[in-house]
Amino acid sequence: MKIKILFVLSLCLCVSAVNSLAQKQNAKPNAEVQKMIKEIEAKNIEASIRKLVSFGTRNTLSEQDNPTRGIGAARDWIFAEFQKISDACAGCLTVEKQTFLQPKAPRIPEPTNLTNVIATLKGTTDPSRVYVVSGHYDSMCTSPTDAKCDAPGANDDASGTAAVIELARVMSKRKFDATIVFMTVPGEEQGLLGARYFAEQAVQTKMNIEGMFTNDIIGGVTTQKNSANRNKVRVFSEGVPSNETEAEGNTRRSVGGENDSSSRQLARFIKEQSDRYLKNFSVWMIYRRDRYLRGGDHIPFLEKGFTAVRITESDEDYTHQHQNVRTENGVFYGDTPEYVDFEYVANVTRVNMIALASLALAPAKPKNVGIVTARLTNDTDLKWDAGQDPNLAGYEVVWRETTSAVWTNSVFVPATATTYTAKAMSKDNYFFGVRAVDKDGNKSPVVYPRPMR
Ligand SMILES: [Zn+2]
Repeated sequence: MKIKILFVLSLCLCVSAVNSLAQKQNAKPNAEVQKMIKEIEAKNIEASIRKLVSFGTRNTLSEQDNPTRGIGAARDWIFAEFQKISDACAGCLTVEKQTFLQPKAPRIPEPTNLTNVIATLKGTTDPSRVYVVSGHYDSMCTSPTDAKCDAPGANDDASGTAAVIELARVMSKRKFDATIVFMTVPGEEQGLLGARYFAEQAVQTKMNIEGMFTNDIIGGVTTQKNSANRNKVRVFSEGVPSNETEAEGNTRRSVGGENDSSSRQLARFIKEQSDRYLKNFSVWMIYRRDRYLRGGDHIPFLEKGFTAVRITESDEDYTHQHQNVRTENGVFYGDTPEYVDFEYVANVTRVNMIALASLALAPAKPKNVGIVTARLTNDTDLKWDAGQDPNLAGYEVVWRETTSAVWTNSVFVPATATTYTAKAMSKDNYFFGVRAVDKDGNKSPVVYPRPMR
């Protein structure tokens, strides 16, 4: 027994300063996050999906003033749901309809009012830092401009919309440092229009969005139930930023960084946090912006320079997306609730919650993180601005081999430091990053440094 204790002690000493990230991620989970995992319920998600499907169609061009059919009915129902959730938390949410007149566009034959339905949970200590979680509530059948056909859109994307409503219900019972925006948008099938409008407004109002997730087709289509990828959800993140400048491109070509956009750091963060809490369901990081031939509501955010990822089920079934509901040659086509696995959606909702809560409880990312290039040296000099969070404990400098897809090592640096030198580790031979850590152990996503003098 004694020998064993000594062995453990010596092991602790040798790994205390420099530790593998996998070991550190096992450190104390947040009890509220664990409670919220249990509070997210498949039956609530199922009820929301069935309700959204009951409006017949949610095509963006469908009726706006019919209380039982069309996109207007869906819009008003989502608004009422958010309002109900807010009433249950003493008005903790700001519930809004963000309406705008969309001019003619390839899939908008006449100018049309579009309405984003948004519920905001304001942060306590750092309310200007914002995370957005979204789903699109519009749907389509085979033709995107057919406003009359039935377009149940149970998976695409009542699933994402239902997840956002469930997140609002569960997360509104807690307080977070940063602000969380629960957003549902129309016009996705018409060209990402609702999300684009929100992103444009966010730029105009200088909203500091530090992360955005779109949940689109997270239904876990039941025809893929036996897939080997069943216990995972894909998180798509771009490598080269959509808004990269020419100067940034030159730096990237010179010294690398195509695997280190802020969106990719966000994807790594989501996976790390999800792995801390969920044992039987995991994040499958996909290192690309989106699937072939497809796009999503994260793209307008990326184009405006925000950090954003797309969350989508592992295996899709195209007979149950964007189809007129019909049977043809004995094959059933249509995006109906019978093909949605509500437990799968609940698991994806849990991944969202874990990531959002971890982000909104953590300090802000370090700012102006630089890799100092003033001298030729076999050390690596890093620097950053001092963080302002009163609960800040310090920073973690992370690194990995240039061929590694994820961060593998880290060292803790106290809050008083704004520089770190990795001795005998050349910046030419590793990738480095820095993240902020608070006194409760909450960590921000990693910031990849820019070359600085
Ligand atoms: Zn979709």
